[in-house]
Amino acid sequence: MQFKALIASAFLATASASWSFNTTRLCGTPEPTQQQMRESLAMLEIERIALAKGHVKRQTSINVKTYFHVVASSNSLSGGYLTQAMLNDQLSVMNNAYGPHGISFSLVGSDWTVNANWAADGNEQAMKKALRKGTYSDLNIYFLGNLGGGLLGYCYFPTSSHSTGSTNFILDGCTILGQSVPGGNAAPYNLGGTATHEIGHWMNLYHTFQGGCAAPGDSVDDTPPEASAASGCPTGRDTCSGGGPDPIHNYMDYTDDACYTEFTSGQQARMYSAWSAYRS
Ligand SMILES: [Zn+2]
Repeated sequence: MQFKALIASAFLATASASWSFNTTRLCGTPEPTQQQMRESLAMLEIERIALAKGHVKRQTSINVKTYFHVVASSNSLSGGYLTQAMLNDQLSVMNNAYGPHGISFSLVGSDWTVNANWAADGNEQAMKKALRKGTYSDLNIYFLGNLGGGLLGYCYFPTSSHSTGSTNFILDGCTILGQSVPGGNAAPYNLGGTATHEIGHWMNLYHTFQGGCAAPGDSVDDTPPEASAASGCPTGRDTCSGGGPDPIHNYMDYTDDACYTEFTSGQQARMYSAWSAYRS
């Protein structure tokens, strides 16, 4: 794609300097399907009953075996070739964000591939077919040199239809702009928050602005409704009257990494519901 090629060359030209990205956070995760929305609302009903009965404390914890795949256009930092130290820092950010919710990530393996086409997200399926490891319970993260279109990342919601070797199985996992890891050059998105956000989708969370002000919004009760994505860190933003201030510090909004601080207990409940429905 011509546009993508232009973006790619612009990125390569500035990769060793600062990230020239100047719009909002952009996530390429597909919109949830009607079927996925129905399944999330069914989980919400069960979570509401548990909450009403006082069963809010989680019953177990989740440890996710994690595989990191670095896919770069060259074996230099400017080509997207991240170091193990950078990957370890990224893992720490994930564990710090999810740890308070009883969810941890164990890095089982890291691998590095130099392939300019894959590094520009030129053949997602072939890349994942070659690199994906583990089962549907395991998280694969692909750190690419450039996703094109200003995207910081994308992931897939879990589904019941994921037999080993199926397209859903192969594509499962998260693709992340490599320079969004701690120490990367994608400021203000270089503190590792993009991975935290995308993994939220892998755990079945929607954007906090999903559906705008109208119920059921993101299908979670304790995230205030939000008319649209927030960017930067707009303290006091309130786009849906009567719903409370927008959840700008929530990992599932579009704010800067430095603005990200929380998941809610409703989102935690959803991650556990989805884990047991689709991945455990
Ligand atoms: Zn997203």
